[in-house]
Amino acid sequence: MYKKKINKLILGSNNQGKVREIRKLIPKNIILHTPKRLKIKSPKETGRSFLENSLIKAKYYSKKTNEVCLADDSGLEIDILGKLPGIYSARWAGRKSDFNLAIRKVYRELKKKKINKNKNIKCRFICALTIFWPNNKYYQSQGMVEGFISPKPKGVNGFGYDPIFVPNGYKITFGQMLFKKKSKIDHRYKAFKKIKKFF
Ligand code: IMP
Repeated sequence: MYKKKINKLILGSNNQGKVREIRKLIPKNIILHTPKRLKIKSPKETGRSFLENSLIKAKYYSKKTNEVCLADDSGLEIDILGKLPGIYSARWAGRKSDFNLAIRKVYRELKKKKINKNKNIKCRFICALTIFWPNNKYYQSQGMVEGFISPKPKGVNGFGYDPIFVPNGYKITFGQMLFKKKSKIDHRYKAFKKIKKFF
């Protein structure tokens, strides 16, 4: 199964920001479907790691459609918060996926720990990808980008926690960066590079 190049794929995510960014990484000749278009709801993310959750999603959507599925599980780990929000990154935004809420929660949690926002608060974005084939075979990869929390949110590009993440070696947040630039240094791109051979 691995030997055959994938030409049709379900993108296993109901997060439209993510779908937009993954879509741009995948070669144009591949036919892509999304759960939203097929009206398939998201599964429960009961895993204890990014890799476990991406496998849960990829397997779930592949079984629902009998197609090859590529799923991503990703998030932001902040060292001083014991690596939170981590696998709970989406959940910190609440039922309505309100990332202003999630970002406020990050600053609130830092304040609770009496952490000065202007200090170098180490964090990283992590992305785990799983490709799941209808014959139950799967392949996984992971990528990460290290950085620090911006003293305040900046920029309107991207999605999720992008306005508060400054990658190491830069002075601007992902929210201030053009996608063209972000997509050459970020966690998703690095994870994707390792599975590119299947497309
Ligand atoms: P999940 O993988 O669907 O559980 O959601 C991961 C969450 O992590 C997203 O909802 C975003 O909030 C956050 N996240 C993952 N990747 C990025 C990114 O590239 N930029 C900003 N936030 C991200």
